Amino acid sequence: MLRSMRYGEADRILHAITPEHGRIGAVARGARRPRSKLGGRLEPLAVVRLELLRGRSDLHTVVGADTVVVHHRILTSHAALTHAQRACHVVDRTAAPDEPAERVHGLVRTLLALLDARPDEAHEGLQQAFRLKLLYALGVPPALGACVHCGRSEHLVGFDAAGGGVVCASHQAAAPGIAAESLSFMVEALGVPLAAAPALDERPARQVARAFEGIAMHHLGVDLRARDD
Ligand SMILES: [Zn+2]
Repeated sequence: MLRSMRYGEADRILHAITPEHGRIGAVARGARRPRSKLGGRLEPLAVVRLELLRGRSDLHTVVGADTVVVHHRILTSHAALTHAQRACHVVDRTAAPDEPAERVHGLVRTLLALLDARPDEAHEGLQQAFRLKLLYALGVPPALGACVHCGRSEHLVGFDAAGGGVVCASHQAAAPGIAAESLSFMVEALGVPLAAAPALDERPARQVARAFEGIAMHHLGVDLRARDD
């Protein structure tokens, strides 16, 4: 469950990522009534087995729900909750509807399980590692090993999001710079499981986040900096 919004008098609109159908939107009628059986099973950030009725529009109707995993500990930590919401927001914006998304779904489940297991740790490295792995799962991996214009693998100093990855000093042009520290984080984070994501300081985190946003913008057509609510 990526997102849950109040709708009408007693309904909820849900956004979820599913392995079989990618991102879906569904309405849970009456879910906010006190005795609704559905309501209690549609907790944010929970893993839920949904029974859906496909409508004529993109919005499905929830006819049944069974909780598979709840992440109670995330809700006890402001930091863990914020990271979970940031990650869910990014998936909500970037994942395609009506397309199998097993890898994306698996990544989200792993991230939520990790945040739930260690709610009080520093999570920036985990968050950025998640986003990089998400780009792979979405089929738009950034090129990190060699300049996207000339193939040189030394003196990589910039990140050209439109070009799809890193650039050398000769081809940096207007591309924003990327520090060696940020680049090595990206390479390392992609090479290990999410649970082993390296830690990340604030400055490289900003560069890694900007690289991610650039790829999303140029290769997925999603402006993550624009607020949609
Ligand atoms: Zn070059």
